[in-house]
Amino acid sequence: MKNYIVIDDTRCKACYLCVNECPRKLIKVSNKTNKLGDRIVEFDDKDGACLGCAMCATRCPDMAITEVHRG
Ligand code: SF4
Ligand code: SF4
Repeated sequence: MKNYIVIDDTRCKACYLCVNECPRKLIKVSNKTNKLGDRIVEFDDKDGACLGCAMCATRCPDMAITEVHRG
């Protein structure tokens, strides 16, 4: 099973709560900016290390993160 998350760029307000929440440190500040000019986050999981724990999605106050399980 491969787990991953999808981040909705239009909802991310760059608070970085999810960055600190991920036990595997798979969410990073990106070079992309939102409409306020703040740098939003991206999911960086080249090694497939995501646990699918949804701690990031639960922590996000703006419901910008969707968790996906893929068999
Ligand atoms: S689901 Fe868990 S392991 Fe995967 S990115 Fe979110 S907090 Fe990290
Ligand atoms: S917690 Fe949500 S709004 Fe905050 S940086 Fe992460 S995805 Fe963006």
